[in-house]
Amino acid sequence: MSRKEELRRRILKYFLLRGKATRPELVEYTSSRAATVFDVIDELKSCGFLVEPGRRGKRTGRKAPALTLHGTAGYWLGVDFRHGGTAGIIIDGCGEVICREELSCARRDLNDCRREIGELVRRLRKAAGKEWELVSGIGFADPGVVDPDNAVSRKAVNIPGWENAATGEWLEGEFHLPVGIWPETMIKTRMEYMLRMPDVPESIFLLTLDDGVGGGFIRNGELFVGSSGCGMEIGHLVIDPAGPVCKCGNRGCVEALVGENGIRSKMVQAIKSGMKSSLDMENFSLNAFLEAAHSDKAARIVADQVCKNIGQALSAVVMLLNPSMIVFGGALSKLDSILISGVRRVLELNCFAGALQELKLELARSDEFDTARGAALRMRDKVWLGE
Ligand SMILES: [Zn+2]
Repeated sequence: MSRKEELRRRILKYFLLRGKATRPELVEYTSSRAATVFDVIDELKSCGFLVEPGRRGKRTGRKAPALTLHGTAGYWLGVDFRHGGTAGIIIDGCGEVICREELSCARRDLNDCRREIGELVRRLRKAAGKEWELVSGIGFADPGVVDPDNAVSRKAVNIPGWENAATGEWLEGEFHLPVGIWPETMIKTRMEYMLRMPDVPESIFLLTLDDGVGGGFIRNGELFVGSSGCGMEIGHLVIDPAGPVCKCGNRGCVEALVGENGIRSKMVQAIKSGMKSSLDMENFSLNAFLEAAHSDKAARIVADQVCKNIGQALSAVVMLLNPSMIVFGGALSKLDSILISGVRRVLELNCFAGALQELKLELARSDEFDTARGAALRMRDKVWLGE
């Protein structure tokens, strides 16, 4: 890649993450000669990627006018296929929502899954009307392990039939658009980073805590996934070798301890040892537990144990990656202050003080459509950067 191409890529990437910038900001960011930067900006404008509404016409005062991405240079469709339902969205080139839909059907096998996804995309097509013509690609957030190079869904343990499915090929055949597939945690991590713009921390470790537990790490806008894409599998970090058996076959993984089954057996133990609880254990659900954790004595004690497990796994993360921020997503983030203070206590016991001084612990900021939006944005970036 020539130096100019490299600069073009850096500048375009800057816009894809931040949405806007002024010419002086880009000169400072790239530490390149102003004339070279302006050449690249003009080229990106003539290719239709950027617009600079304030440059001609009305006076904008002393401040340099901002360049932004070009909204109608292309629309992008994002799908968030997950346990219990599918969310979909169409966004413009700046990430603004054009339309969104949600759907959940009974799923017994792969055909049911595909019927749900296909119907969702058709509803979005209908909602977009004439603007459907602008849609240039589909980004798909997959709930399990994926092979992104071949757009194949390898396996999601909690979705029946979702195994070795050529999701990309199927979607391309149905809707005649290019398709990109990424693991949902990767998409979510990038969204948490983008949602904190412009005051974004240098690095974020995202921990998603549902029945499944996932992790993602992003630093200076770049995701780190390891040399074969298997990094950040914090859910299957063994923290209690004598613990319960996990879906992966090992014993005492984080996921086995803090997933729904793990929490249920902790509750049973607590009640057996004489702790009072108002929770109906016959009809136990994660949500009922999470609601009770702030008031029920046994549930609160179990919540503290769960935070201890999570804190122990995160101690390894803090010692290895030294992130500037840890973000908690998923159902267990409803534990809110119990989770944040419980985890911080464990980290303080286990980690070097130097790694904790600047460390922020926060809850996720994304809403229920942000993963679909993130998948659409990721597809936009893939196409625009020519990846
Ligand atoms: Zn496991």
